[in-house]
Amino acid sequence: MKTRPIPYRTIEYTEGEHIPYLHFPMLDNTGIVSHLFTTRLGGVSEGIFATMNLSSNRGDDKTKVLENYRRVAMQLGCEEKDFCFSDQTHTTNIRVITEDDRGKGMVRPQDYKDIDGIITNVPGIALGTFYADCVPLYFVDPVHRAIGLSHSGWRGTVGRMGEVTVREMSRTYGSDAKDLLCAIGPSICVSCYEVSTDVADEFIRAFDIKNTPAWDGQGNDFDTILWKKENDKWQLNLWAANVRVLRDAGVRPENISVSNVCSACNPDLLFSHRVTKGKRGNCGAFMMLKP
Ligand SMILES: [Zn+2]
Repeated sequence: MKTRPIPYRTIEYTEGEHIPYLHFPMLDNTGIVSHLFTTRLGGVSEGIFATMNLSSNRGDDKTKVLENYRRVAMQLGCEEKDFCFSDQTHTTNIRVITEDDRGKGMVRPQDYKDIDGIITNVPGIALGTFYADCVPLYFVDPVHRAIGLSHSGWRGTVGRMGEVTVREMSRTYGSDAKDLLCAIGPSICVSCYEVSTDVADEFIRAFDIKNTPAWDGQGNDFDTILWKKENDKWQLNLWAANVRVLRDAGVRPENISVSNVCSACNPDLLFSHRVTKGKRGNCGAFMMLKP
C-alpha cells in the first residue's frame, strides 16, 4: 500500500477475520463505534469488479454483491437487515436516520433520494456510503452518542459538506463541534487529482484562495488546497480542503484524522474512477454505534 506523508493522525490496514479493511484508530479508541473502509480485497466479484464490489447498479452480478455485503456485515458485527445507505448524487443533503430506516437500500427499498450524508443516534444501524476517488467523511460524537457519514466529492467539498454535516448533528443531537471526532477516508490524493480551470475557479471562490503556488510535484504542504500548473491545469488537494471545512466548522485539529491512502495511487487496493475511466465497482465506508 502506497501512502503519502501528511501531518495528521491517519489510517491502518487490518486483515480481519472476514475481510481486510482500513480503519481509523482515533475512532476505534472511542469504544462506541464499529467502522471500516472496504478495499477491493476479500470479496467474490470478478473482472472490473474484483473482488469486493459494493455497487449493484454498475453491472455486477447481484448475488456476488450480496455475498460481498454479507462479509462486510460480519466484519462490522451486524446483519444485512441493519444496513442503511445514502443515495449519493453529489448534493449536500443530509438525512436523519431513525429506527424506521433500518435496512433501507439493502433489504428494503429506499424511500428517499439525493442524500449524500446520513446521521443517526440509533445503536446497531450500520450506515453506509460509497466511493471510487471521492472523499468519505466520518463523524463521531462521543458525548451525545451520535454518528454520521458524508460523501464529499469536489462538488460536495465546494458545498462544504463536512460543515453541513456538523451543523445537522448539532441541530439534531445537540452535538458540539469541539467534541466531534472526524475522519477523512481513502480518496484521490493531490498528486493524482489534476483538474481544469472551471473546477479550480469553484474552489478559489468557495475557499477565498488568494495565492495558488506553482505545482511542486509533491503537494505535501497540507495547508495548500490548490496548485497551479503550466498547462492551464491545477492540482487539487481534497484532503486539505476538507480539513479546512471541518476546522471552519469548529472541529479541533487534533480531532481530525486524515487517511494517507490514495485510491488512484493504489488501484489494486481501492476502486478508482480516474484510473479505470469509470469501469469499476465501489468501495464503502461503514459505521455503526455499537448496540
Ligand atoms: Zn494518488
